[in-house]
Amino acid sequence: MEKGKRTHSEYLKAKKLRQRKRKILRASVYMIYYGFWTIIIALVLYFSYSFISSKFGNQARLKANTKDIVMYNDESFTDNDTTVSHSSTVSNSKSNNGNDSSSNQPRKQEIVNDGTLVVCIDAGHGGKDRGCNRRKRSEKNDTLKLALEIQKYLNSQGIKVVMTRSKDNYLTLQERVDICSSKKCDYFISLHRNCGNGNGYETWLASDACDEAKELANNIHTGMVDVGVSKDRNVKTGSQKNPNEDYFVLRNTTTPACLLELGFLNNSTDNKYFDSNTKAYAKAISDAIISTYNKYHSKNTKK
Ligand SMILES: [Zn+2]
Repeated sequence: MEKGKRTHSEYLKAKKLRQRKRKILRASVYMIYYGFWTIIIALVLYFSYSFISSKFGNQARLKANTKDIVMYNDESFTDNDTTVSHSSTVSNSKSNNGNDSSSNQPRKQEIVNDGTLVVCIDAGHGGKDRGCNRRKRSEKNDTLKLALEIQKYLNSQGIKVVMTRSKDNYLTLQERVDICSSKKCDYFISLHRNCGNGNGYETWLASDACDEAKELANNIHTGMVDVGVSKDRNVKTGSQKNPNEDYFVLRNTTTPACLLELGFLNNSTDNKYFDSNTKAYAKAISDAIISTYNKYHSKNTKK
């Protein structure tokens, strides 16, 4: 055969190759064409959705305003504390109320509720953050145990409870604060157990807390002491590590809030108190919440 002349099979092969190239080209054109229109349609849908949701969002906000829910000073939630130690309840970043605390004006204003008390119960720590530990005992389990008892008791009284966690899962401090504000809770109660040398029960409060928050903390404190604690360590402001810096959740919640240190986990007497009084503590804390709320919102409170 002459060199340069193609055999029939070579001719067929070349033909097939040309056909394949044409197919690929056609497919590419289709893809670009349909891809373009898919993107256009997606953009149209996205912008329509944004427009509709912003419109309805504004309407919902207007509705909320009619319920006289007073929002507080818009503190920016820039602190983002994700440390896992027991002391994580104190943010190591800036003290965003440094200026406020020097003023005599209470930062928080009273919420005028529409008649339904909503309580946020925050079981401290959880998941990878065990809090205080002693042998097999972990703070995260104790706080959850009490939180569930409080929830049970308040629910039995017809009161709505928002739990920051109901199982052994991890949450940042900011997430806990966000749950409280997104669910429009009236009160925020954070449960913890102490670490270190010492014994007894103490209640923590923000240094610029409003009267209602002070009343809430005092009522809970009295109720706890009445049930029985190994030592009354009083109602305090600031935090264990820094008397001038309040606990993160107390600084950043916009509702009356307090943080309870329910005895020292590394003290066996305190553990006995905690174990034998869990239900009684839950009732005392709940009753204090209810009586505080009744005092400040008596006209509207549902019983
Ligand atoms: Zn703790």
